[in-house]
Amino acid sequence: MKIWRFIDTGARSAAENMTLDQVLLECRAKRLIPDTIHLLRFKPSSVLVGYHQNVEHEVRLNYVIEKGIDVNRRITGGGAIYFDESSIGWEIIALKSSIPPYKSIEELFEMMSKGVIEALKLLGVQASFRLKNDVEVNGKKISGTGGTEYEDAFLFQGTLLVNFDVETMIKALRIPIVKLKDKELNSIKERITCLKWELGYEPNYEEIKKVLKLGFEKALKVKLEYGNLTKEEETLFHEKLPWFSSKNWIFLDRGASKEAALVYSIAKKPGGIIQVSLALDEEAKFIKSIFITGDFFVFPSQAIYDLESRLKFTSCDESEIKEVIFNFFKERKVKMPKISPEDIVDAILEAIDKISYKNFGFTNEEINHIYPVTKNAKNVLLGECEFLLLPYCAKHLACKYRKVEGCVKCGMCSVGKAYELAEEIGITPLTIQNFEHLIDVLEAMKKSGCKGFIGCCEAFYQKHREDLEKFGIPALLIDIDDRTCYDLDKQKEAYKGNFEAQTKLKLDILFKIAKLLQRRLANA
Ligand code: SF4
Repeated sequence: MKIWRFIDTGARSAAENMTLDQVLLECRAKRLIPDTIHLLRFKPSSVLVGYHQNVEHEVRLNYVIEKGIDVNRRITGGGAIYFDESSIGWEIIALKSSIPPYKSIEELFEMMSKGVIEALKLLGVQASFRLKNDVEVNGKKISGTGGTEYEDAFLFQGTLLVNFDVETMIKALRIPIVKLKDKELNSIKERITCLKWELGYEPNYEEIKKVLKLGFEKALKVKLEYGNLTKEEETLFHEKLPWFSSKNWIFLDRGASKEAALVYSIAKKPGGIIQVSLALDEEAKFIKSIFITGDFFVFPSQAIYDLESRLKFTSCDESEIKEVIFNFFKERKVKMPKISPEDIVDAILEAIDKISYKNFGFTNEEINHIYPVTKNAKNVLLGECEFLLLPYCAKHLACKYRKVEGCVKCGMCSVGKAYELAEEIGITPLTIQNFEHLIDVLEAMKKSGCKGFIGCCEAFYQKHREDLEKFGIPALLIDIDDRTCYDLDKQKEAYKGNFEAQTKLKLDILFKIAKLLQRRLANA
C-alpha cells in the first residue's frame, strides 16, 4: 500500500494558509515532498475570493474590516467563501499519476471528495457528492471543493463546516441575493449545513481529524503517516509569505471585464413567486452562481439546490440553459406544482437580459432597480413611452395632493421633480392613488393605444406583475428608495390609498431615462 504524508499546519492567518497552498503544490511538483493530505484552519476567520475574482466585488470590505476578518485570494478558482474559525480545510496535494485515471472533471471531483464523505460517515453523517463540486447532506452543502494544478502535480481542496456562522457569511460576502429579507436569509440557511447541526453537538477537532485521516485512507487506498513541514517547505514558505500578504496579491486586479455582474429577476406564476439571483461572468458569458428562491413547492425538496449547482458554469446561451433545466427536471423527476421548467428558464433569461440594459448607459447597480413588463419593455427606452405613473406614497405627507391625483411641483418631495422631468420630455405624469385607480388608468391607456410607460415601484410590480402583464403595455418599473408599504406589511392600506409613510422616487434613474428619451425624441 502506498504511503502518503498527513500534516496538520494548525490555525493560521489567511495569508499563511494561501502561501502554504502554493508551497505544497510547488514542492510536490519538484518531488521535494511525498503525496500529502493537509489539514488547515483559519485564525482569524477569513474570507477567501477565488483566484479570478475581484475582492471589492465579492466582499463587503467595510464589514470584514470592522469585524477583524482576514481577506485573501486563493490560488484556486471558484467563488468567494467564508472560513470561520471552526471550519476545517482539507487538501489533497499529489502527482496526477498517483490517482486512478478519470474520464471527466466531475469524476475527478467525486473521487477527490470521497475522503470527506467517508469521514462524515464515521461520524454518523450520511453525505454524498453533488455535481458539480459539493459534498451534501440531505441536499444541504457541508463541504465545497475546488482545485488547481502546477506542472504534473495538483491541489484539490475543500472546507468542512463544523459550527458554521451563516449570518456572518451573509454579511461578509456579496452573495447574489435579491434583498436580504428574512425569507431569503432562511433560504440560504436551508442550503447549508454543518456538523453541529447534523449531530446536535460539535465534535472536537481531534475527533474530526482522526476520522478525516481514516476517511482519506479508505477513499484513496493509501496509508497516511503523520508528518511535518520539511525544511524546504519552511524556507519556501518564508520566501513567499510577503507576496501572499501583499495588497498586490489580495487585490490583484484581473480586469473589470472579469467581474461578476449580479442580476436579478422576479416572476410570479400560479405556483408562486420565482426569484432568480445570478452572478454572471460578463466576458465569458457564463453563470458563476445562481440562487433560485421563492414561495413555490418543489419535490424532491432539495432539487432546486441541485439545479443551482448544475447551472453553475453554464453558458448564458438560451438553448444551453434550456437543455440543462429540461434534462434536470426529466432526469430527477422534479415536480413543481403550477411551475414549469419553462418558467424557470424564462426567469433566468430575464435576469440575464438585464445585462443588455447596460448598453443604454445604466450601471450594474441601476439595472437591478429596473423591472421590465412584457417582452418589449426595452422599447420604452427607444422612445415608445407616453406616461410616467408615480405612487401617491412618494408625495409629501402634508401635501394636499397626497390623496388626489396631481402635483403643483412645490419642491417639497421627489414627485414634483419627476413631474418636471416628464413634462420636459413630453410624457404625461400621473400619480396612482390606489389599486383600482391603477386598473382604470391602465384600461384607459390600453384603449388609447398607449405604446409604453414608466412606473414605480418594484415591490408593487412583484405583487401585481400579472395584472400589469395582462394589459400588455410595455413598461419599465423603477424601484423606490426607502421602505415600501410591502416592506412594512401595509399593502392593504396602500391598496386603498391609506399608506401613511413617505417614500422617495429614484430620481437618478428617472433622470437617466429622461435624458435617453429626450435624445430619442430629438432624433425622431
Ligand atoms: S412636489 Fe407635488 S406632490 Fe410633492 S409636495 Fe409638492 S405638490 Fe405635493
